[in-house]
Amino acid sequence: MTTDSQGRSTFTGGVHPPDSKHLTEDKAIAPGPPVKELAIFLSQHIGAPCQASVAKAAMVEAGQPIGECQGFVCAPVHAPIAGKVKEIALQSHPVLGRSPAVTIVAEEEVQPAAPSFQRPDAFDPKTYNREQICDAAREAGLVGMGGAGFPTSVKIHHDAKPAKHTLLVNACECEPYITCDYRLMLEWTDQVITGIELAQRACGASKVFIGIEDNKPKAIETMTAAIQKLGLGGAMNVVRLETKYPQGGERQLINAVMGEHVPTGGIPPMIGVVVLNVATAAALAEAVINNQPLTHRVVTVTGEAIANPGNYYVAIGTPVQTLIDFCGGVTTKSAKVVMGGPMMGQAIADLNTPITKTSGAITVLTKEQIGQAKFERRQTACIRCGRCLEVCPENLNPTSIAHAVKSNLLDVAERHFIGACIECGCCSYVCPANIELTGYIKTGKIFLARQRKQMPA
Ligand code: SF4
Ligand code: SF4
Repeated sequence: MTTDSQGRSTFTGGVHPPDSKHLTEDKAIAPGPPVKELAIFLSQHIGAPCQASVAKAAMVEAGQPIGECQGFVCAPVHAPIAGKVKEIALQSHPVLGRSPAVTIVAEEEVQPAAPSFQRPDAFDPKTYNREQICDAAREAGLVGMGGAGFPTSVKIHHDAKPAKHTLLVNACECEPYITCDYRLMLEWTDQVITGIELAQRACGASKVFIGIEDNKPKAIETMTAAIQKLGLGGAMNVVRLETKYPQGGERQLINAVMGEHVPTGGIPPMIGVVVLNVATAAALAEAVINNQPLTHRVVTVTGEAIANPGNYYVAIGTPVQTLIDFCGGVTTKSAKVVMGGPMMGQAIADLNTPITKTSGAITVLTKEQIGQAKFERRQTACIRCGRCLEVCPENLNPTSIAHAVKSNLLDVAERHFIGACIECGCCSYVCPANIELTGYIKTGKIFLARQRKQMPA
């Protein structure tokens, strides 16, 4: 952990890309596009994929489970709308290429209506027992909505070895362009805080920190005021962090807020910490208080190449094309569509790709933005400047790992801790030779997973 002259906490390394949040930060959450046909993936989480629990031609109700768990680390999926199961077939997936999904067709278009959450009067999380909260999270199919997709019920489960002492709410949203969590903190403040209290109750943490970057002063102000008003100050604290990418990486956040290190290759619970995303906290409140499964989420549709950027409450399974059309379409032919933000997102070619539980944004970049992000510049030889080493938040040697992967020396890449790379893209971002270091590292990880038969060839 380092603290600068303004008292802001941060981690070592990282980069300062333009945050580009001005496009959507003042856009209130609005209902997303009306939908008639949705494709809901059976795997939207880390862990075992679900098995379809409905058959082709079956009629389903809105909120009905359509995919059931096949293991402990799993999260069921639900129908966002009522309708008929058209098919259970492979659909374009932003990461897996193709993945099985249940397609539901409604009789007529349905427009999502944002939930009206009401924090119960004199709410006391102690009136819920821990198992009750975990069960509600599991039945609602909650997963980490910041991108990782780890099943929430597993994450918040009380564990004695080691006991979970701290709940750390990841409210950084450090990825450029994205503002969905920011808007949730401003507009659904009570819901987010209620979800945080329930997560704290479930995991048994005595301390709660909410880490927010200082480019979101309104969020810092709103959350701090709400915590004070509810009388939660002392046990729940907002921490102002330096605006730096990837401040929202779990390991970087823990280091910045608590000054602790998660062991290489380890996960936060190993040191007694649970990290929860803002949207996940909001969804937990809905699941426990309103018994609502995770069928919709807020998505930022942004980028210089989209006509009407904004933050929308969208049905999971909505095709990206539908969302883009709803936002007035793309303004240039040479745009690049990214699921997520420009640093860690996945470029997608098939615009029928459906929104998932972890899709926080669709970013549509112009050719100029793509150029600025260095994706299209000519690659030259490494000049051994060391900049990639300086910015790596995991203290890795990106150039050595990339060189090993390029030479098909995966054992050497492993000796350089390829598995510890969080794929943040900082090394590629600063490389003056335009070497796509992160791309080589991701490829190396895929080759290793195939060697170990953890992934299909
Ligand atoms: S090696 Fe991995 S963790 Fe390090 S900067 Fe590159 S992408 Fe980020
Ligand atoms: S930043 Fe690029 S040019 Fe510099 S050492 Fe790393 S790979 Fe080589």
